[in-house]
Amino acid sequence: MQFPKATVQKIELKSLFDADIELSVLREDLLHPFLSGNKWRKLKYNIEDFKNSKKKIILSFGGKFSNHLVACAAAGKMFQIPMIGILRGEEQVMNPNLEFLNKCGMRTISVSREDYRKRNEESFLDQLYAKCLQEFPDIATHPDDFFIIPEGGSNHAGMKGCMEIMDDVPDNISHICVASGTGTTLAGIAASTKANQEAIGIAVLHGETWMKDSLIQKGAPPDRTSIFFDYHFGGYAKTSSELGKFCLEFSNSTGIPIEPVYTGKLFYAIMDLIAKKHFPQGSKICLLHSGGIFDFNKTF
Ligand SMILES: *Cc1c(COP(=O)(O)O)cnc(C)c1O
Repeated sequence: MQFPKATVQKIELKSLFDADIELSVLREDLLHPFLSGNKWRKLKYNIEDFKNSKKKIILSFGGKFSNHLVACAAAGKMFQIPMIGILRGEEQVMNPNLEFLNKCGMRTISVSREDYRKRNEESFLDQLYAKCLQEFPDIATHPDDFFIIPEGGSNHAGMKGCMEIMDDVPDNISHICVASGTGTTLAGIAASTKANQEAIGIAVLHGETWMKDSLIQKGAPPDRTSIFFDYHFGGYAKTSSELGKFCLEFSNSTGIPIEPVYTGKLFYAIMDLIAKKHFPQGSKICLLHSGGIFDFNKTF
């Protein structure tokens, strides 16, 4: 499936008036109500690989508010691929994300946080397959049927899809900035920057300082990739009243909705870095709006 090109929207903010800096937002969030932003980019080649394999079911992983599982469930419905989501944490609380997964036909299994940590271990996967065969005999009939997409779509196929984001970014952009969880999107963007461009990631998790090395291992050019670790506001999905207020004011003044988990931290960080004169005069900065805001009542 091919999406239309994402639009680049210029934004004017009072705080930018004295700085000779141009700011724009790449609206990947508008591409699809659920397969939005970077999550579709990360699924695209995974789904292609699945279709080229002899596997019958996609199995993936995430927390109970995982944007990645939302995208997997939507893709499962659209392309009629049986999907199983392995959820972190055994507590049984329904939320709109989980209702959406069910509505799309995704089957789910909740595992303890301790077990969830073993998700990359062969022997644990064998146990999971056995459980799926038992619980979902209508879709799972053989342990060889399962095609694994790692949490967050953070494999090589995921990165390959993210390399295509730069197709929608004009060549005169000097800095392209993105909120980073696993760093896969940043790696893909950085790997396809031109010589005059820099990719900047804002880490949304606490203590992910290993990320820079892993980005370089994945093929991000070291001299054109940077990542900031001081804007996580306490960790994943943690926020503050200051960040909440920023998101609200930014959304009101630009008409671009942002939220505190990913894009809010990104936009806050870049405004702060502009104020601290991190960017040279004449910079043309593009912020990737990677989605993450859903209206679960939308049909697709
Ligand atoms: C998943 C997600 C990210 C993080 O992407 P990574 O490739 O894991 O770094 C950023 N923004 C939004 C809205 C997301 O859902």
